Amino acid sequence: MLSKEQQELDEKLRMIRAERYACQSVARKALPNERVSMCLRRINGSDVQVLKHRKTKKAFYNGLLVCGSVWNCPVCAAKISEKRRKELQQAFNSHRNEGGHIALLTLTFSHKKFDRLKDILDMFSKATQKFMSGRAFQNIRDEIGMIGRVRALEVTYSDNNGFHPHAHIALFYTNDVNLENIEDEMYLLWEKACTKVGLTVNRKHGLTLENGEKANDYLSKHGTWGMDQELTKAHIKKAKNGSLTPFDFLRKYIEEEDEKCLILFREYVGCFKGKRQLQWSQGLKKRFVLEEKTDEQLATEQIEEADVLGMLDYETWKQILRYDNRSYFLDLCEKYSFDKAVTIVKDKKIYPQLAEEDIQKVKK
Ligand SMILES: [Zn+2]
Repeated sequence: MLSKEQQELDEKLRMIRAERYACQSVARKALPNERVSMCLRRINGSDVQVLKHRKTKKAFYNGLLVCGSVWNCPVCAAKISEKRRKELQQAFNSHRNEGGHIALLTLTFSHKKFDRLKDILDMFSKATQKFMSGRAFQNIRDEIGMIGRVRALEVTYSDNNGFHPHAHIALFYTNDVNLENIEDEMYLLWEKACTKVGLTVNRKHGLTLENGEKANDYLSKHGTWGMDQELTKAHIKKAKNGSLTPFDFLRKYIEEEDEKCLILFREYVGCFKGKRQLQWSQGLKKRFVLEEKTDEQLATEQIEEADVLGMLDYETWKQILRYDNRSYFLDLCEKYSFDKAVTIVKDKKIYPQLAEEDIQKVKK
């Protein structure tokens, strides 16, 4: 028997999975011509395999197309970002063990409700490039003993201010320096770069440079979130303070069926597709002995040991897809058995999306 805590955790994980699949179905609606619309739906071979991880006891599918999109797909993004997080954490740890420091630099600018995301994002990338490529920035690099950086690109949205692109950059450096002074020096450069490309910026919100430990402590106060998560999973999380992350558009659509959420999601995807969510400066990844893998590789690779529970034929798979029961079918496999799960999704005509014990509750 599972302990109560284990049961609760199991239930929570099931809910998270159900939400990811449901959000992916919304992404499919928003982007019918993108690969996400076929992700974990289209069969690669002849059958769909259902497997179970030995360690976590979680069931999953094999033999299906996997889109591998970190921007579009809530299911793939979860897998990719977790693996990217581990890579980053490994680099942070190795660098600290060698006596190095990490600082978190955040770049942003002022924007308005009706700015087009494409326009401000282009200007923002130009400004970032200008900021980092000049002689003055090189001097700061020398001053702090910078050995590299990892840049995460992000966007949030609010009804009052529209899209808010920004970048978090983890700086790997070695010298003991006063970050407040460096922050002032950097701000002047950032302001100059923004002005050159036509963006406005102010001292309060334009640029912040924080000590990595402090940033980590601050982020961890809000749950188990650390700097590694902040850099890899920001677009996936639920935003606070009335602003929305891109995947919040999908969540909101599930709740309100507001078409505007799909329009905003499309605008976001149109601008971020093809961009790297996480960009390591040259040589940095190699330095910490990390293998270079594409998002697609990370989304499809299977590291943990797993056992085959059974095979689904095309007809059964179609039945599961028809009621959008992909996540639910995995729940049933975990709760009961593969054969019973098949019987339930095939035979329950009245409540095709509910299991027997759930049906009893509905009948009461
Ligand atoms: Zn996908």
